[in-house]
Amino acid sequence: MNVSDDLFTRLARSPFRQRFRLGRAEYDYAVSKGEPVLRQHAAAFVAQRLAPAQPENDGKQTPMRGHPVFIAQHATATCCRGCLSKWHNIGQFQPLSAEQQAYVVTVLLAWITRQRDQPAPPARVTRTPPEKDDDPQLALW
Ligand SMILES: [Zn+2]
Repeated sequence: MNVSDDLFTRLARSPFRQRFRLGRAEYDYAVSKGEPVLRQHAAAFVAQRLAPAQPENDGKQTPMRGHPVFIAQHATATCCRGCLSKWHNIGQFQPLSAEQQAYVVTVLLAWITRQRDQPAPPARVTRTPPEKDDDPQLALW
């Protein structure tokens, strides 16, 4: 099943959707797991969290971090049935068909692949603020 460039063009026009990027941890995870594993995870999340006619906590079922697929869901507007309806023309209040689930998984993997092809995001730096008399010269004594 094809994911149209048109979808990504439309998503690119949404400042909200554009904000989502893989963090370093999710990027490394995506690279280390590889596509077949990510595809399995995506299929499982979609089946559990999106496919039922009325998913539990619909609209809040997708965490903002913790797995590349979650980020991809927000970035591609496949995070809940409301967004699937608005962006992908998939009607609410009926179970997703196998074909619709496969489509969502394809969209998610297409987004992750695009992200993975970009340079790795910088690792988060934890730095302690310098203390007041943190004069490097004092360390010489
Ligand atoms: Zn949503």
